[in-house]
Amino acid sequence: MDLAENLAGLQARIAAACARARRDPRTVELMAVSKGQPPAAVRAAAALGLRLFGENRVQEAKLKIGQCPGHLRWQMIGHLQSNKCRDALQCFSLIQSVDSLALAEELNRLADKMAKTMPILLEVNVAGEGSKFGYPPKAVLAEFARVNALRRLEVHGLMTVAPYSPTPERVRPVFRQLRELREQCEQILGAPLPVLSMGMSGDFEVAIEEGATLIRVGTALFGARAAARKEAAAAAGEENEV
Ligand SMILES: *Cc1c(COP(=O)(O)O)cnc(C)c1O
Repeated sequence: MDLAENLAGLQARIAAACARARRDPRTVELMAVSKGQPPAAVRAAAALGLRLFGENRVQEAKLKIGQCPGHLRWQMIGHLQSNKCRDALQCFSLIQSVDSLALAEELNRLADKMAKTMPILLEVNVAGEGSKFGYPPKAVLAEFARVNALRRLEVHGLMTVAPYSPTPERVRPVFRQLRELREQCEQILGAPLPVLSMGMSGDFEVAIEEGATLIRVGTALFGARAAARKEAAAAAGEENEV
């Protein structure tokens, strides 16, 4: 696995998708999803110029962030439990996975105590998959105004995880629906919502064509996560424990 080569390949594919959609590549931000990857992988990615990293577990992020350069930006992309909110507010510069009013209220309450403001995205379960977190599309419209009224939170946009498909073209309607939902939320807000976080290793090109402003890429950049864990464990001399 060659990180520099993977990154160059990704950047070429991002540029090609932008060209097809007549978009400026600078309007699509690449998040390196570093969950399951050791700090060394993050440092290597940072050395190649990547600045935005995504984690899905607060505990893992907390440990990793302390072992990585201080100028990186970290965002939460996994389901957040209320007992992890305080740590999440400390670790991350944005939380992409706000999926209920109760969670938003708890984040707002704790952010107020810490005298800070937290940018968030609302996660939408567009396809209604039972195995996934996120607001049902109707609920996000119903609750948008109430979440937005929370003084310590700033809603910057929407996020979704599309169903897995070996044929990314099949999930295009999911991305399109998130873009349309954003427009409806913008009408409720009366102002633009800049962020549309959608697209992963298997489907980011279609997401870009449908308007993604932030794509979250893990395996296409770092390689498989299980392999990364095994390598790290082997390096630490614990291969028998994996
Ligand atoms: C793991 C994960 C990703 C990255 O997935 P890859 O397929 O490895 O690119 C993106 N978004 C979320 C929310 C994830 O949990």
